[in-house]
Amino acid sequence: MRVPLTTYRRLLVIYLGPQRSRVLALGALLLGTIGLQLLNPQILRFFIDTAREGGSSRTLTLAALAFFGIALLTQAVSIAATYLSEQVGWSATNALRSDLTLHCLKLDLTFHHQHTPGALIERIDGDVNALANFFSQFVVRVLGSMLLLGGVLVVLWWEDWRVGGLLTAFVVISLLLLSRVRDVAVPHWAAARQISADLFGFLEERLSGTEDLRSSGAEAHTLRRLAEWMRRVLRTERRARLMGMTLWSVTTALFVAGNALAFLISAYLFNRGAITLGTVYLVFYYTELLRQPLDQLIDQFEDLQRASASIGRIQELRELRSAVVDGPGAELPGGALSVEFADVTFGYSPDAPVLHELSLFVAPGHVLGLLGRTGSGKTTITRLLSRLYDPGGGAIRLGGVDLRDTRLEQLRQRVGVVTQQVDLFQASVRDNLTFFDRGIPDARIAAVLDLLGLGEWQRGLANGLDTPLSADGVGLSAGEAQLLAFARVFLLDPGLVILDEASSRLDPATERLIERAVDLLLRPEDGRRRTAIIVAHRLETIQRADEIAILEAGRVCEYGARSQLARDRDSRFARLLRTGLEEVLA
Ligand code: ATP
Ligand code: MG
Repeated sequence: MRVPLTTYRRLLVIYLGPQRSRVLALGALLLGTIGLQLLNPQILRFFIDTAREGGSSRTLTLAALAFFGIALLTQAVSIAATYLSEQVGWSATNALRSDLTLHCLKLDLTFHHQHTPGALIERIDGDVNALANFFSQFVVRVLGSMLLLGGVLVVLWWEDWRVGGLLTAFVVISLLLLSRVRDVAVPHWAAARQISADLFGFLEERLSGTEDLRSSGAEAHTLRRLAEWMRRVLRTERRARLMGMTLWSVTTALFVAGNALAFLISAYLFNRGAITLGTVYLVFYYTELLRQPLDQLIDQFEDLQRASASIGRIQELRELRSAVVDGPGAELPGGALSVEFADVTFGYSPDAPVLHELSLFVAPGHVLGLLGRTGSGKTTITRLLSRLYDPGGGAIRLGGVDLRDTRLEQLRQRVGVVTQQVDLFQASVRDNLTFFDRGIPDARIAAVLDLLGLGEWQRGLANGLDTPLSADGVGLSAGEAQLLAFARVFLLDPGLVILDEASSRLDPATERLIERAVDLLLRPEDGRRRTAIIVAHRLETIQRADEIAILEAGRVCEYGARSQLARDRDSRFARLLRTGLEEVLA
């Protein structure tokens, strides 16, 4: 995968821009180490030549002390540079991580059905990790290495043009050769990361389905599949590493050749008396010094190869636009909202429509009961209302405003949903109820819990509202979890309530609490009325509806006022009531 240069530049500008001063300080520190590294061999040569000429021991001691002092200073500066570059790298990758997380959260559900959480984790963490070095070191190290290379060569030319010429030729040839083999490993690293993303996806899927897997005795099968995956990981990873090794061997061979060259030319010049022994040392030392920036350049480019595979995939993800685009911000009216479906057609995939030109109207403050067999599209209608998907055709309006014109944030503030499945977070009771909104006072939360009959439960919490809940709701009964979902919607105080009732039965006491919660939610004690759409499986629930719509295979096959339909002996609704709602719709 070739990543265009502008992509690298854009990433650097976005994530290094905010910490410009830190990056500049890092550059200064690296320049410092380069200067110090160039300085030290000069002292060494001075030391050797002075010793051979029988210089005073005082001068020699001073030279030796200077050598040690500079070596120590070099270490200190490079420690500071490492510290700073870690800081730069982590700040940049953390910012990228949170941007990607937010981006994924905003992508529509079709995307999330196509990508397992495991694969996304690998993208958000694995790929971003591979970029840490790119952010913290790449530019600085590559520039620094080039400067050091240049510096060493200038000094060598200065010493003797023949040494300078030879080693310059060596550096140029090395760089050419190395840039040739540079691109070899990229596709292999891309394959290795992809396969590890797939493996995470597989593991995530199996682990989240542990209960079903065990009860169906599919463990052996899963382990066999895992072994196949591991084999695939091994094969791709091995290939990628072999490619990396090839790069490494080429450089090692080059360095050996460079050292040999330096020795040959220095020996020749020394024998002819053109240079002193100190200069021989100097040349040797500088040749050694060449090794480091060349090594660095290779390392950095190898890392860039790995990173570019990750950058390619991160960029692909960043460029994905949610099919659900935030609207320009038309205001929804306050109070109870009317609901209108006008010829809405929708399918999760374009070739399999689930709703067919469906039209519905619910007046503000009215309650619509939605009935229909399993798979008829009831839950789908509720998902369209909170705009998890957009309809393929037709329009949905709340209080007369097309959903696509509203801001998603406002829409989700005004539409409260209680679904069959309650998702809890690994967070405190308070955060689970308010979705991390600090503006809601504790007293209000406590009042809502009391209202819903969770007062006892709340007083039993070890740390009150700060008590942590676990993500899977361990320690909560199904009824309590449902009531917490109601509490969330109460705190939201929405203009439209959607209830997608569980078809399974709860114990009678809890059921009574939930019935009461529904009543309170639809008809708050202050005499207001909320618009509601309730997907009902039980007769008690359906009695609250003003209107009834019966769905069949994505079409409304009966619609009318509940009392009227119930009186009409030939209506489907009346027949449903006679045969028993529960038997037919459960
Ligand atoms: P139930 O009474 O069982 O809850 P429902 O009336 O709520 O059923 P929906 O969940 O709306 O039915 O499903 C309607 C159709 O859409 C079904 O054929 C179902 O297979 C399909 N469907 C539902 N969710 C998805 C999805 N995420 N991706 C693809 N198809 C889906
Ligand atoms: Mg459903």
